[in-house]
Formats: sequence, C-alpha cells, structure tokens
Amino acid sequence: MTMHDDAYLKCIDPQCGLEYQIKSTNLQCDKGHMLDVKYKKKPSDSLKEEFYKRRNSQGNIFNESGVWRFRELLNFCQIDTENIEECSKYLVSLDGAEGRQSKPYHMSKAAKFIETSNENLWLQPEGYNPSGSFKDNGMATAVTHAKMINAKRIVCASTGNTSASAGMFAANEGIDCDVYIPAGQIAPGKLSQAYQFGTQIIQVEGNFDDALKQSLEDVQNNNGYTVNSINPFRIEGQKTIPFRALEYLNWESPDWIVYPGGALGNTSSCGKALMELYEWGWIKKIPRIAVINSEGASTLSDLYNGKFEGEELRWNKGKPNTELITRYYNHLDKEKIRPKTKATAIQIGRPTNILKGLRALEFTNGIATTVSDSEMLDGMSVVGLNGFDCEMASGATVVGIKKLINEEIIKKDDVVIGILTGRQKDAMLPVEYHNNPQNKFAIPPKN
Ligand SMILES: [Zn+2]
Repeated sequence: MTMHDDAYLKCIDPQCGLEYQIKSTNLQCDKGHMLDVKYKKKPSDSLKEEFYKRRNSQGNIFNESGVWRFRELLNFCQIDTENIEECSKYLVSLDGAEGRQSKPYHMSKAAKFIETSNENLWLQPEGYNPSGSFKDNGMATAVTHAKMINAKRIVCASTGNTSASAGMFAANEGIDCDVYIPAGQIAPGKLSQAYQFGTQIIQVEGNFDDALKQSLEDVQNNNGYTVNSINPFRIEGQKTIPFRALEYLNWESPDWIVYPGGALGNTSSCGKALMELYEWGWIKKIPRIAVINSEGASTLSDLYNGKFEGEELRWNKGKPNTELITRYYNHLDKEKIRPKTKATAIQIGRPTNILKGLRALEFTNGIATTVSDSEMLDGMSVVGLNGFDCEMASGATVVGIKKLINEEIIKKDDVVIGILTGRQKDAMLPVEYHNNPQNKFAIPPKN
C-alpha cells in the first residue's frame, strides 16, 4: 500500500486487522478472515445535494446508474469522480441501468395484509434491475474491480440470480463467465438468462454450499475472479440499496430495514452502509435490520436466537464464537440436514457472510426470524396485487414484517423499509399458487 492510497482492504477481525492494497484479489486475510473495503477520507455531506441533482442525469450514464450516482461513497478505483472519461475508463455499468429503477414505494394492499399504515410501509423492488435482481448492484462494483486487475474470467456459484447478473456483465465486458450450480436444484427458468448471456454452466452434485466450494477451488487452482458475495467489492455496490432508500426519505432513517436472509450479503452491505453513514454524521439514527430466513434454511435465525446449544451467537465486538458455527455446520452434516425451501434464492445452509451479518445486527440492534414457504408465497402474491412482480424469497420480507408486527417487535407506528430482492424467475410458482383455491390470494382460472 502506498501512502497516497485512500482505499484499501482490511481484515474484519479487530484483533487481526491485516491490510492489503486495493488491487489485491484476496477474498480473505492471511489468517482466513473476511475483508472489508475501507476508505480513509470522510465524504462531505454536501454530496447529498449532488446525488439529488444527478437524478437529472443529463446524459451521463454514471449519474443515471443507481449505483454509480453514489460513486464518491464507493470510490475504490480512486478516480476523479467528476471526470467522465475516467469514469468511463474504470467504472463498469450496463449503460447506467443498474439500480436505475430502484426506489421505495408504498404498496397499499401489502400494507393492508401486514396490518400497518400505508404511510409507514415502504417496499423497494430490486427486481427491476436489468438482470432481474438486486445482484446487479454489487456485480457492477465486483466486475469493476475484476477489470481493474485485468481478470479475463469471472466465476461464481449460483442459485439463479447471481448467474444472470454475472453473465450479463461478462457479456457486456467481453470476458468469460463460469457458473457453478447444484445439479437439479435450480428451476430452469432461473438459469435461462445465464445460458442466454453465454455463460458456461458447470453442474455440481450437492447443494449451493457445495457448488460455492467447488467454484472457489476452481479460482484458487486456475486463473479466475470470484464474484460471489464473499468478494468484498460486491458488498460495496450493494450498499447503494440502502443509500437509495435513505435518499428517498431525505436521509431520515426509518426504524427498520428488512431483508430476506440467504448468504447474508445484503445484511452485511446494509450494515456497512449504515456504519459508514453514521460515522460520517450523515444519519443521526441507526435503523434496525431484520433478517427473514426461510424455515427450511434458518442458519442465522437458529444461531442468533440460541436455538442451537442454547447460546445466542453474537458478533461480540469482534470476538464471535466461531466454534459454535462450526459445531452447527457439523451438526447439519451429521444429521444430513439440507437447506430446503422452494425459495431457492435463500436456500443456503452456510451463509458466506455470517460474520459480517452478525456485525451488522450488532451495530443496528437487529433481529432474525423465520417464515414458512406458504407464507412467503402469500407475501409474493400480495406484492403482485400492487402491480409489482417479485420472487418467492422477496415474499419473506413482506410476511416477515407482518410476523414481527404481530409479535409487537416492530411497533405499529414504526417506519419500515422492506427490500424485495428479485423478480419472478420461476414461472410455475404463481401458476401453482393461483390454481389452488386454498391459497389466501389465489384467483383460480375459470372455465
Ligand atoms: Zn484477519
């Protein structure tokens, strides 16, 4: 690292704290801990006005982009952010489309179902990103870093959304993209985009966690660049999801930000965004994060709520009980417990970002809970009745909020932002849902 570097990588373990230069492709420190992208300079909050002005993009795709509109807050390329030529040379964008359509909306039918006031509930669909999910936010930044270090091949494991996003960016940049998937566990519709964008699919016997392991080994043994959320640059782009939500609320913090919980990249990036904004004095109040797991893939909720060995797992100021996590994973293996939910986007037993996720929950006084598959389908369906399309995993956000309000954890007058992570990619789910008159929002076909 040279003295002039403003951006660098740092180990998340406060007792370790190893640092690396920004061009490092390490996904972990030398002791095996995860890494953060860090910045030395404190951005001025006069940028708030600049970000607002950029909503009128004036033909600048980096202003049009919902990710790069906030480029001063993720300037790991250390470029002159006002210089269009430098932006064009370094920043990877789908012509400004990533994050462009994402903002929070009121959805009255969802509010009615949740039994909260329409004014207090905001839902932010990320499914209208070009590849159909929130992944485009973080992929823009990860592929920017890949380009910075001249990577010729990006690699990921995927349950669908990541492969579509990685494939789209790779096709745009003219680089190769290899996608590891658990054989037979992904709906064909969720993979069709990956095929369409020219990715190489590699089928792995096992589940997502096995596919991720193999993809990481591939990158280790051959030249390649990992774009899963273990990559700290993915997290940087995903910070713009809460940035857009907060900007829309004039940087006045809501009481809650609610996400579905899978690999916990969103939880981690939301936590990092809030830590930075609070440290810079951009927000005065810290929203609480609620993570909604599926009942069939409930690692975070089990560990956080003390459902395994009776100990509530915490970040514990940087000293989490990682042995408890290891014992939990061993227990899953021994009992042959596999993550199981129809919401494949969150069918993950070993959340890559669990430690960063715990850090986010500690900073925000957050919580974790679970919902069932049939509840998620109701959540997905009521979003549809508002004219918005979302996938089953996103339904977890809606029914998670409903559950937490019923439990009086979220108070009736709390302001809540729920993130709807992706668009429907499994065409048969709504068809099956509506063909069963037993379902709450079903409108069965007539003859
Ligand atoms: Zn370390």
